[in-house]
Amino acid sequence: MQLTSKLPNTGTTIFTVMSALANEHNAINLSQGFPNFPTDPKLNELVHAYMQKGFNQYAPMAGVPALRQILAHKVRSLFGFAADPDQEITVTAGATQGLFTAIAAFVHPGDEVILLEPAYDSYRPSIEVVGGVPVIYELKAPSYSVDWEEFERLITPKTRMIIINTPHNPTGSILRKADLERLEQLTDGTDMLVLSDEVYEHLIYEGEEHQSVLRFPQLRERSLAVYSFGKTFHATGWKIGYCVAPAHLMKEFRKVHQFNVFSVNTPMQYALAEYLQDEKTYTYLSSFFEKKRDFFLSTMAGSRLKPLHCDGTYFHLFDYSQISEEADTLFAKRLTTEFGVAAIPVSVFYSDGRDDKIIRLCFAKTEETLEKAGLLLQKV
Ligand code: PMP
Ligand code: GLN
Repeated sequence: MQLTSKLPNTGTTIFTVMSALANEHNAINLSQGFPNFPTDPKLNELVHAYMQKGFNQYAPMAGVPALRQILAHKVRSLFGFAADPDQEITVTAGATQGLFTAIAAFVHPGDEVILLEPAYDSYRPSIEVVGGVPVIYELKAPSYSVDWEEFERLITPKTRMIIINTPHNPTGSILRKADLERLEQLTDGTDMLVLSDEVYEHLIYEGEEHQSVLRFPQLRERSLAVYSFGKTFHATGWKIGYCVAPAHLMKEFRKVHQFNVFSVNTPMQYALAEYLQDEKTYTYLSSFFEKKRDFFLSTMAGSRLKPLHCDGTYFHLFDYSQISEEADTLFAKRLTTEFGVAAIPVSVFYSDGRDDKIIRLCFAKTEETLEKAGLLLQKV
């Protein structure tokens, strides 16, 4: 049989590769981003209770109304945007599905989509599989900030979408108010859409405020914002999230969503609707993870791995250029096999494989794990 791959340049995601290597070598897995501490038992009990009460059939296509209502409340209290729960919020099977659905709904073959790299690895193949053309703006170490004049030069009449991600995986950088204002200006009066990956909205440090596209009235008219309960509630395996967008965009998003997944599992939606009534279930997260970040850095003090800056997410970058000149992919593998700590090489998040000798470590782990990892990394 002759098959023509739609994604000839796409291999197995680095998260699968590094987690498998970590397991094989019994290494501490700081590569793939997931917590190694439990979800709140109260949330687990709620899921169980709704299953037992018989909430086990298809949910409405857009999501359980009670969940969309509490999400509308959350979005209003955080970002001042009174989203209509009926028309402007859709529950998705994780953020990855939300991102894919948004791209599939709006990107036509030949349309250009601007990405800021290093980028979460689902964006590029999602664009390519629907025939879109990724256009890359490279963020550079150590600040990974955007020069908007340079960025503007990438915009052409074919630009259909811009994908942003703040707080940013893998760099831990954030976009600030001035960045979003600039983006609002750049896109004003055009047909460009903004897809905003905000899965780390609650993981932002030093008292910084998360700058959602939803805070900016003109920008949000052309934006789809994507969120993940997996990140917020330490349950990455649940694969549930949501998308917020103005009704005219959500209408198109749902046309794809309904045949992409139709609807998302019912008992978790009811459980989350009840759990989210208490804002304290997520308002503690910044200080919780900021402490972990600082604890992790303290265990690494004296290590020859040099920390970069981390303003948000649960990832920290480290520069190893003083230790070795080898490619970051090889260095990350060697850290796993020889030193017992698995990491992600940042070059895999750049289309051109740009290698600045930087690795990413995930600090969403118990203090015990972070301490053990720190001791091992001291020896590198
Ligand atoms: N976007 C970013 C930036 C991420 O780091 C992740 C990681 N998991 C996702 C999206 C996907 O979220 P989900 O697991 O809810 O699909
Ligand atoms: N977002 C997680 C990370 O960056 C992993 C997601 C995945 O495994 N697909 O590590």
